[in-house]
Amino acid sequence: MRSIKQIKDIKGKTVMVRVDFNLPIKGGTVADDFRIKKTLPTIDFLQKKGAKIILITHLGKGGETAAPVADALDKFTKITFIPEITGEAVIEAVKKMKGGDVILLENLRNDPGEKGGSADFAKKLAALADIYVNESFPVDHREDASIVLLPKLLPSYAGFQLEEEIKNLSQAFENPKRPFLFILGGAKFATKLPLIKKYLDLADHVFVGGALSNDFLKARGYEVGKSLKSDEDFGIEELLQNKKLIAPIDVLTQSDGKLINKKVSQVGKDDIILDVGEETLSTLEPFIKEAELILWNGPLGKYEAGGGGTTKKALQLVADSKAKSIIGGGDLVSVLSSLEPKSYKLKPNLFVSTGGGATLDFLANGTLPGIEALK
Ligand code: ADP
Ligand code: MG
Repeated sequence: MRSIKQIKDIKGKTVMVRVDFNLPIKGGTVADDFRIKKTLPTIDFLQKKGAKIILITHLGKGGETAAPVADALDKFTKITFIPEITGEAVIEAVKKMKGGDVILLENLRNDPGEKGGSADFAKKLAALADIYVNESFPVDHREDASIVLLPKLLPSYAGFQLEEEIKNLSQAFENPKRPFLFILGGAKFATKLPLIKKYLDLADHVFVGGALSNDFLKARGYEVGKSLKSDEDFGIEELLQNKKLIAPIDVLTQSDGKLINKKVSQVGKDDIILDVGEETLSTLEPFIKEAELILWNGPLGKYEAGGGGTTKKALQLVADSKAKSIIGGGDLVSVLSSLEPKSYKLKPNLFVSTGGGATLDFLANGTLPGIEALK
């Protein structure tokens, strides 16, 4: 994989940068510009070198305009939005560009060729530029045309944030520092089971919280009442024997409309588990404090509904610890964003991944289709 630092004679060249500005839009404006900020070093570098920059992104599943994204980006760098993806209007706009100019094309997924992996669509995009840059780590687990086909048609390079993601996330599976603590929360047991298995090998301790731990409690024979759990049987009994596994010993439940901290053995048929409990957090604390490396994905509780307490406290412990920490997952990162001081998110020992599904896939497989396409 080549870095954009290796591009020769950038001046005057047209560089197509695949970004992932699939950002939450509320009332027609971007609600969180974290990913934009993380992409600025790449845009800035290319601009200073005198390249003409064409940004391409998807937004949602298609059907929406990327115009709000252009407005959000315009706060950082002057940008022209072209409400088309291919065709005459785009060709004309690119012809008029000067070195240092930045344009953003319309939502790639408005063309079925993007998700459909159309070679023809990739060719049309390639015809607009001299060079391709992948700066779209959060979507690099997809085999979309702009991710896996386009880089095969142009000289292709990795953006700075993509390199950062690979460098930081790889620390979890390439000679990890020890003690290595893996914290896994959130939901979607099926997608996270491969990670639990892999990191029970790689890490020294694996703490499972969130709705995932309900499945472990159930497998241990405990009542989980009306809590969120999987319907499938994943055959996880064997994992329960693993000494590295740390599961909750108490939980915060919603019982008769009240929030009550209960031992896992006391959960009733009508209870809903919202968070791991206080005693569990005390059990986790020494592991956080002694760790040299912490990898954390997914919140420990239903943070949107009163179950965010331990996630916040544990995030503070992690941020204040001596460990190098890698934080991933859209939901966990939004809890981190809600913490005061805001500077937590910027602590140098904390790496906050821009990915969700891509982060999980990269941690599980060590690569992604979008990365392979750059080789
Ligand atoms: P991330 O985006 O950080 O990877 P996930 O998407 O896997 O995390 O899971 C986040 C979701 O899990 C949130 O909607 C959260 O409410 C939910 N969740 C976590 N713990 C519980 C719980 N005990 N009960 C119900 N939902 C939970
Ligand atoms: Mg999520």
